[in-house]
Amino acid sequence: MNTALILASIAAVQHDILSHESEIESLDRAIGDGDHFINVRRGCEVLVALSPSLQDAPPSIALQKIGLKLLGTIGGASGPLISSFFLAMGKSFEGIDEPDRRQFATAFAAGVEAIKSRGKADVGEKTMLDVLIPASRLLSRMTDEGAGLPELCAQMHEEAQRNMLATKDMIATKGRAYFLGERALGHIDPGCKTCEVAIGAVCKTVL
Ligand code: ADP
Ligand code: MG
Ligand code: MG
Repeated sequence: MNTALILASIAAVQHDILSHESEIESLDRAIGDGDHFINVRRGCEVLVALSPSLQDAPPSIALQKIGLKLLGTIGGASGPLISSFFLAMGKSFEGIDEPDRRQFATAFAAGVEAIKSRGKADVGEKTMLDVLIPASRLLSRMTDEGAGLPELCAQMHEEAQRNMLATKDMIATKGRAYFLGERALGHIDPGCKTCEVAIGAVCKTVL
């Protein structure tokens, strides 16, 4: 993973998020306040605009600048959470010019851990962590096992899709959907949908 690949991944995430507009919109309209798609679209826009200035930066600096930029632009609950993910990944890459797959898995885990501690949430609470925590575990395990990239990407996306769909059967104990109680049942968590789309986009980019 190098900065060029990080920036290409961001462009791919923006493309795929835009092509899932109606789905993501309607999820947050059903169990949130309807702004999740707008928040994420805005985040993607500012990052794509920022990209040219990051091209020559090492991954750790690029990711920290990305995190800081997001903190100032995406509102809502998801802004500071996604920002903390990038800041922690950047910190994990400090002193590494071209992170290898193991270092990437470690940085991803640090990013997910940052979301957990900032959001004070864990698996089973119907938040983006229901996709991110298992994704991080799978990434670490398959990296340790020396899995090939195509196999790793296929399984990562499959796992993300499965866990995203599983949030339909959950009651939220964090975020706005918490106030709906059982009325949140039957609906996918919007943040999980965004993370699933983003994981799929990054997988396509690195392959
Ligand atoms: P807001 O809820 O403030 O309007 P968004 O709509 O942009 O913000 O984001 C909502 C998403 O944020 C939810 O679908 C959920 O995945 C995620 N989320 C909310 N609270 C938490 C939390 N405490 N920890 C992790 N993720 C959370
Ligand atoms: Mg919202
Ligand atoms: Mg909001």
